[in-house]
Amino acid sequence: MAFFGNGYCSSGSEGEDEDEGMEGYRKGGYHAARPGDRFAGGRFVAQRKLGWGNFSTVWLAYDTLLSRFVALKIQKSARDYAQAALHEIELLSAIAKGDPTNSKNVVQLLDHFKHAGPNGQHVCLVTEFLGDSLLRLIRYNRNKGIGLSRVKEICRSVLIGLDYLHRELGIIHTDLKPENVLLVSTINPSKDPVRSGFTPILERAESNQYSGSVISFSEKMLKMRARRAVAKISQRRVSLGGVAAEMEKERSLDGISLKCKIVDFGNACWGSQQLAGEIQTRQYRAPEVIIGAGYSYSADMWSFACMAFELATGEVLFAPKTCQGCSEDEDHLALMMETLGKMPKKIASSGTRSKDYFDRHGDLKRVRRLKFWPLERVLVQRYNFTEPDAHGLADFLRPILDFTPENRPTAADCLKHTWLN
Ligand code: ADP
Ligand code: MG
Repeated sequence: MAFFGNGYCSSGSEGEDEDEGMEGYRKGGYHAARPGDRFAGGRFVAQRKLGWGNFSTVWLAYDTLLSRFVALKIQKSARDYAQAALHEIELLSAIAKGDPTNSKNVVQLLDHFKHAGPNGQHVCLVTEFLGDSLLRLIRYNRNKGIGLSRVKEICRSVLIGLDYLHRELGIIHTDLKPENVLLVSTINPSKDPVRSGFTPILERAESNQYSGSVISFSEKMLKMRARRAVAKISQRRVSLGGVAAEMEKERSLDGISLKCKIVDFGNACWGSQQLAGEIQTRQYRAPEVIIGAGYSYSADMWSFACMAFELATGEVLFAPKTCQGCSEDEDHLALMMETLGKMPKKIASSGTRSKDYFDRHGDLKRVRRLKFWPLERVLVQRYNFTEPDAHGLADFLRPILDFTPENRPTAADCLKHTWLN
């Protein structure tokens, strides 16, 4: 939504030790749920918190009517958040309607309702329960890159989803990034309530030891356990030194299903009515968005390419910073040009902010000496790719990272690329 539709405020749900904090739990903010709490006239029972974003907390819930686990997104209650949730429901309803067999790799909306709590009325979305995000997958593999055959498999899944959204529905996601693509299965089978044979909690725990606490009991236990595990690991590091570091590298991705789905339509829009001027999370933001030249479906393709690079290398493609005398935007444009070559003058001058960043020759005003380091070379020299591997990946990504949005291949075009087949 234009009003606050900035996907770039980071969602901390992936931060291992971070939570949503207490401040969000006030009038107009998050709803403080606890395991055993019932929703929608008792049908859905909260189990444990799965994640959170700036708009919501998301809980694993048990659907007592259909005897299955679902994800329950409980939106903050202030009017603007409620409106954003209604907008997300509108888009997710269209997405579900157009995909009755649930095969287009986009999260399925199952139900929605309002829930009244001490902090106000919260719009709630019920979706299918999914696993870990691609960001978790990248971190799980200790940011080493997940291997090209896995990257290809994930790219195919995401492209099927994007092709459906773009071509069949006319929806631009506008916030594609590793946090917003979830594996269908959890990485760790014990986190999957079905595979681990978890018995659903149906009653609210009687103990009032934690009443009023926004952090659930199970979560506290998990955190305590995690802290203990970290302590153990660092102890081992002291005793084993290099050996422990070697062992960490070996964490295997074998056997993890890579089927994935696109989630979080809180910022998505219809291609025909683009509202927000600024979209996308910083590192995944397309050049046309930065210079204020308008955007279309091809902006999602840019983010997709950034994400594919990150899966392959374990590092973000562009990580701009504010530098002396230049803004984050300018640093970002400079990084893009160092990797992809100079932006065509026609494009550079086409945005409402062009004059702030570029001179009349189409050169950046405040970043003078660019150090060109083409994508393919980066893959070989920085990430130790073999020449053929680097060539294959760069050949796939370069056209998507075209400065001219109209030149970028569509998701359907990408699906036909030889690198994926
Ligand atoms: P927000 O709009 O507040 O950012 P999201 O829809 O991105 O909310 O959800 C926040 C987090 O909750 C996600 O990053 C993810 O960790 C978790 N999550 C969301 N949907 C699901 C789901 N269907 N299954 C499992 N976890 C989910
Ligand atoms: Mg989110």
